[in-house]
Amino acid sequence: MSKQGSDDERPLKPATRLVQAGRRAEWTGMPGDAGTIVNPPVWRASTILYEDVAHLRAGNMHTPHKLYYGRRGAPTSWALAEAITQMEPEAAGTMLFPSGVAAIAGAMLAVLKPGDELLMVDSAYGPTRTLCDGLLRDFGVTTRYYDPLIGADIAALCTDKTRAIFLESPGSLTFEVQDVPAIVAVAKARGIITLLDNTWATPLLLPGLGLGVDVSIVACTKYICGHSDVMMGAVSANAALWTRITRRGHMLGQMVSPDDAWLTLRGLRTLAIRLKEQGANALTVARWLETRPEVTAVLHPALPSCPGHDAFVRDFRGATGLFSFELAGGGEAERAVFIDALALFGIGYSWGGYESLALPVDPADLRSATRWSGRGPLVRVNIGLEDPEDLIADLDRAFAIWQKSRTT
Ligand SMILES: *Cc1c(COP(=O)(O)O)cnc(C)c1O
Repeated sequence: MSKQGSDDERPLKPATRLVQAGRRAEWTGMPGDAGTIVNPPVWRASTILYEDVAHLRAGNMHTPHKLYYGRRGAPTSWALAEAITQMEPEAAGTMLFPSGVAAIAGAMLAVLKPGDELLMVDSAYGPTRTLCDGLLRDFGVTTRYYDPLIGADIAALCTDKTRAIFLESPGSLTFEVQDVPAIVAVAKARGIITLLDNTWATPLLLPGLGLGVDVSIVACTKYICGHSDVMMGAVSANAALWTRITRRGHMLGQMVSPDDAWLTLRGLRTLAIRLKEQGANALTVARWLETRPEVTAVLHPALPSCPGHDAFVRDFRGATGLFSFELAGGGEAERAVFIDALALFGIGYSWGGYESLALPVDPADLRSATRWSGRGPLVRVNIGLEDPEDLIADLDRAFAIWQKSRTT
């Protein structure tokens, strides 16, 4: 990052920022030495040693980038947090959490208090609902769920107790795209805080804070790490909320391991090229699936048939590799035959890694404000970096086996 402060006022493009961010000379070199290494190394720490008591007492535990005590992090996690902050020019800072769910919980506990109402999108990630209906309810917060396609009509649900609106766009099972600017406009007019789970697009493809959202949450476990071997979450916020979120996170004792921060930072450097490739591969596979008689619907934000597609075209800089499709009939057992028949797709939870996955998903069980009226069993796929021709051939083979399972 040392060369970034040139006289050139033009802001760096997002892909360039991903390469430059978090590589401060003081984190990659030794004091007084002209040379630096490229990547901040793994700084392991609990105790920090000081020259004398005066240095121990200088600053305080909230002073940014001061080695204070291991729980407040060290250059490896600072570099990752800074790099994620720089993905969104409107972000004042980023607090790291040991998982995406911890990040969601940390953000909620920072902005909500007993007696508050929370408006939660009905297509939300399952564990987010569990948090609302469990811990938040027990702490006196009332959650009301809303239709992901509600747009500006969310105004009708707001009361003087509504403290926050939580968005997730697109939903990670059914992929409805929300009208983020319309909801943000309603919230801003009423002093309501908006939080966005931006795991699918990442700030690279959906500039959440740029669209006026106050708090942007990313499960780095997915695309930012990108290699299916780290759990990590991040909360970035604007200047008004940043201090509160980081202080509350510290009160909860949240921190991340330097090894995980290092791996996540390594993943982040290639995020732009992975998303471009995985997005293109996924669209190739999705368009092929649309032509198949075995498929009644493909739920992918970049396809015009997707609810909220216009908002996708307006607000997103591209699509990523996760989408669902609906099988033309059969039941649970036949869907399992289809998924089991795939050779190149792993069967497992999570997504965002470089390798393809297939998962049976049942969104109907995770709704309360809206009804999921899908016709057939749903399969969600994470399309990886394989050649899409091989993935299509694999799906084609599995469709033939699925057809046979339905007729015998
Ligand atoms: C996986 C996921 C999370 C949670 O991330 P973890 O790191 O698994 O806790 C949150 N939101 C969405 C949309 C996810 O897919």
